Amino acid sequence: MFDLLVKGGTLPDGTVADIAITGDRIAEIAPKIEGEAREVIDAAGDLVSPPFVDPHFHLDATLSYGLPRVNASGTLLEGISLWGELREIATVEEMVERALQYCDWAASTGLLAIRSHVDTTPDHLNTVTAMLEVREKVKDYIDLQLVAFPQDGLYRTPTGRENLIRALDMGVEVVGGIPHFERTMADGAESLADLCEIAAERGLRVDIHCDETDDPMSRHIETLAFETQRLGLQGRVVGSHLTSMHSMDNYYVSKLLPLIAEAGISAIPNPLINIVLQGRHDTFPKRRGLTRVKEMQSMGIPVGWGQDCVLDPWYSLGTADMLDVAFMGMHVAQMTHPEEMARCFTMVTETNARIIGLEDYGLKKGAKASLVVLDAASPVDALRLRPARLAVVSKGKVIARAPRGDSGLSIPGRPENVRRRAPRR
Ligand SMILES: [Zn+2]
Repeated sequence: MFDLLVKGGTLPDGTVADIAITGDRIAEIAPKIEGEAREVIDAAGDLVSPPFVDPHFHLDATLSYGLPRVNASGTLLEGISLWGELREIATVEEMVERALQYCDWAASTGLLAIRSHVDTTPDHLNTVTAMLEVREKVKDYIDLQLVAFPQDGLYRTPTGRENLIRALDMGVEVVGGIPHFERTMADGAESLADLCEIAAERGLRVDIHCDETDDPMSRHIETLAFETQRLGLQGRVVGSHLTSMHSMDNYYVSKLLPLIAEAGISAIPNPLINIVLQGRHDTFPKRRGLTRVKEMQSMGIPVGWGQDCVLDPWYSLGTADMLDVAFMGMHVAQMTHPEEMARCFTMVTETNARIIGLEDYGLKKGAKASLVVLDAASPVDALRLRPARLAVVSKGKVIARAPRGDSGLSIPGRPENVRRRAPRR
């Protein structure tokens, strides 16, 4: 007797399969599974996917949009300044409550693993205290990974470095940084050497807010690649944003990409945020500010889409839906070939899972029994529709359900029910 049987769903690769679950593991996955189950989900005609993964988020700031006031200029720098005020007045309880509410949204869309940066700048470290509490509270349904993130710079505040170390000692598991925000290029480069050494000593992963600027001379990713190689951190380092690469000279990029590939660094652009924050100092033509996604992928560099922000000082929208993120990414990076669109779906599932080092992920026997049933026929149609999540299963338990997104029509001579799926070809 299985605990749960998901019958007849279409997997992202187009095959049709039954998935049997016992406890928190996938017991079997096959075209047809005979046998009883305590609960059955009929997924015939629907897409069944492994859960969505967000490799770049800020859970300590989420759902705070308008506090203490809105970001009038819409720039990264005003966002940082507003957040600097908010983190001094927000209580631990308020941050926990907002983050838990966000996690409810995430659970409802099938977003079941999140890597969140946590600001380690303030000496009180309330942000860290709050997010450690949230990690514990959501662990049965969301895997939350925390990054020690010195928002105001490792060296730009007197206790920046000390507080980052304190956060790691408290149980934060990834080392973060922001080299382009240090006072000088030299300080930025030194911060990367320092942070990578801290990670190497402690056996931790690294995720750097790297070159999130329109300045084509912001080349910290080059240093990050060097330090990754020097310290043997290949496969454990992420460059988030990398927006300066959009504006870099093509000749320099032709040297840079092989260095990133050689160092085994992954890239996480955040298209919703990059498209609204970058290019704010431009008149016209106005730069998009997204890094070179397809170009990195063609070099074998793993690239995943991150969400970054929802309703916070930097972004006034957001839904906790990684399909919205991928939808924006495929537009801005012009990934409209069928193979590229399908890749965008893989980026917010399997690629992101691999980049942040999730274990036992995926639709395979023995893996963690987490999956999403979508009201769509294929990954590309899911991106186009961003449809209802009919069922979300986390670690063997059904944690969310939603009705189909059909509409009733009252037009003479036309069907009574509309389901906006793409015609089959
Ligand atoms: Zn970020």
